[in-house]
Amino acid sequence: MSKRVGLYPGSFDPITNGHLDILHQSLAIADKVIIAIGVHPSKPPLFTFEEREDMITWIIKDWDDQASERVEVISFDDLVIDAARRNGAGFMIRGLRDGTDLDYEMQLAGMNGAMAPEIGTIYFPASPKVRPITATLVRQIAKLNGDISHFTPNFVVQKIAEKLNK
Ligand code: ADP
Repeated sequence: MSKRVGLYPGSFDPITNGHLDILHQSLAIADKVIIAIGVHPSKPPLFTFEEREDMITWIIKDWDDQASERVEVISFDDLVIDAARRNGAGFMIRGLRDGTDLDYEMQLAGMNGAMAPEIGTIYFPASPKVRPITATLVRQIAKLNGDISHFTPNFVVQKIAEKLNK
């Protein structure tokens, strides 16, 4: 049987407990999950691709099961469907937090589906505890010296502090 490979695209700037929740849920149905970090030349991120990749790799290597061996991290700067095709993914993975996510995701899935009907999208509902988390607010709260440890793993808390104190 061929492997079920899912592509989980996003900015992950930085990875949050919300992203990790969707990653865990998706590993229950996928053989392999490729975290695809979108790098947009026009939108400067807080963390470089290498920094975002390192944070994810460090965080998942502490998992006590073998699931981290089924996770890969890549970057892409083109269409997400092209990144999926290039990496042999049969479906895309997305998280849903609320109705705003749903409306946007329906547009994305509809347009991606028209361009690449062979690649489907699977949604996972955000778990209640992580539902309000967005990476954008995590960055803003950190810049205002707020406590982001409720929203991200400790490793990210440290890395943000280092970055902002530079
Ligand atoms: P953000 O919106 O936090 O900047 P991304 O653009 O990196 O995050 O999002 C990538 C994917 O992860 C999207 O499908 C998004 O809906 C999902 N996601 C982000 N935060 C959460 C969360 N708190 N709970 C569930 N899914 C989430």
